Amino acid sequence: MHGEKYSWWSLLKHGLKHHKTWEPAWERRPLQSHYDVVIVGGGGHGLATAYYLAKNHPQVGRIAVLEKGYLGGGNTARNTTIVRSNYLWDEAAGLYEHSLKLWEGLTEDLNFNVMFSQRGVYNLGHTLQDMRDIERRVNANHLQGIDAVVMTAAEVKERIPQLDISRSRRLPVLGASFQPRAGIAHHDAVARGFARAASRLGVDLIENCEVTGLDIEAGRIQGLQTSQGYVKAGRVGCVAAGHSGVLAKMAGIRLPLESHPLQAFVSESMQRVIDTVIMSNAVHGYLSQSDKGEFVIGAGIDSYLGYGQRGSPHIIDHTAAAIIELFPMFSRVRMNRQWGGIVDVSPDACPIISKTRVQGLYFNCGWGTGGFKATPGSGHVFAHTIAHDAPHPVNAAFSLDRFTTGHLIDEHGAAAVAH
Ligand SMILES: Cc1cc2nc3c(=O)[nH]c(=O)nc-3n(C[C@H](O)[C@H](O)[C@H](O)COP(=O)(O)OP(=O)(O)OC[C@H]3O[C@@H](n4cnc5c(N)ncnc54)[C@H](O)[C@@H]3O)c2cc1C
Repeated sequence: MHGEKYSWWSLLKHGLKHHKTWEPAWERRPLQSHYDVVIVGGGGHGLATAYYLAKNHPQVGRIAVLEKGYLGGGNTARNTTIVRSNYLWDEAAGLYEHSLKLWEGLTEDLNFNVMFSQRGVYNLGHTLQDMRDIERRVNANHLQGIDAVVMTAAEVKERIPQLDISRSRRLPVLGASFQPRAGIAHHDAVARGFARAASRLGVDLIENCEVTGLDIEAGRIQGLQTSQGYVKAGRVGCVAAGHSGVLAKMAGIRLPLESHPLQAFVSESMQRVIDTVIMSNAVHGYLSQSDKGEFVIGAGIDSYLGYGQRGSPHIIDHTAAAIIELFPMFSRVRMNRQWGGIVDVSPDACPIISKTRVQGLYFNCGWGTGGFKATPGSGHVFAHTIAHDAPHPVNAAFSLDRFTTGHLIDEHGAAAVAH
């Protein structure tokens, strides 16, 4: 239906043809033996990187994305889609705000509805120290030009009447921070939108193509071994989330990352009752309601390391208990399905967007539990880093060398359960 004006008539005409004449959203082109830039990992970040490379830096030449499974099938397909930028430190807030601004125009830019819904995000405070931290972060956000408000428990209750704010609770709600421009987007739509737009700009999107080795000679990347054969490459950008450490090892690099399972689950579809996103670090859970009516629920990581895309049942138990503590009236809601992803956690809860000691080899990883919100911004600045062999001003502080210089950006307070 590309290029055709949407009308009742065209919808009916195509509906009766059972989709048979629909063009695929992106072209399935075969893998070539040589590319100027190869992006490893076809999640949202890898696809966004390829899109912004092709759009903003076409001088780099031929680009391919190599994905071992299907496009957008990793953490991109498995996350709970919270988008916000109210981080504490200027560097992190700057990176996520750069992304939030791109989200605000993304549907038009990609000409694909990514279902970005700015329904606001609440971070609840349950202790006096929580409230001091909230005030500090909101003040920092004001100085950074980011929208943020401190709310009282009564004001939160007005917007979310189902929330139990009674003082008799184990951890009573004392207030919250609220970011009005924050919200959610549709994970699959984001991956598909970037894939379609990148493909139209000539990027080759290769699925079922696992990178098994990196060919490095004289300190420079030469190419990649893949499950579909050898590919010569001028530059390689690795965007493999939980598998970043595995790829780095192929280049003899040890990244300061741990890969953990992170789970989420959804309820049966319900009538629309929650029109925002609510998170609680202290009670340890968060919830929003999808357009289909499901409650989308998550919490923190499973504490052990692993590459299995599932987690252990006690985390689900714990998360369900946290949600019922916040919303006792949801105790009879039935849960529909659960899943897990593999998140790459860095020591300061901030990403790594960096050159490496291998010429032409770059890494974008360490997003941990909170990278979906950064998808457009991450792709935008990583494309710049690869094209210029130097960081964009927004990601200069996120280089690998911060772990040797000690210039860490500690965002543990704004990360954890608060994705
Ligand atoms: C349950 C859960 C909830 C989350 N909730 C949120 C949230 O609410 N908000 C938020 O901002 N973030 C959230 N996140 C984090 C977010 O999902 C990730 O940070 C983000 O999606 C990372 O995107 P990506 O494109 O880098 O990774 P991915 O989508 O995982 O893409 C990496 C791709 O690399 C591929 N790959 C790996 N190794 C190879 C190889 N050798 N060769 C070829 N391809 C390879 C993988 O198959 C994968 O498709 C959540 C994550 C999970 C698991």
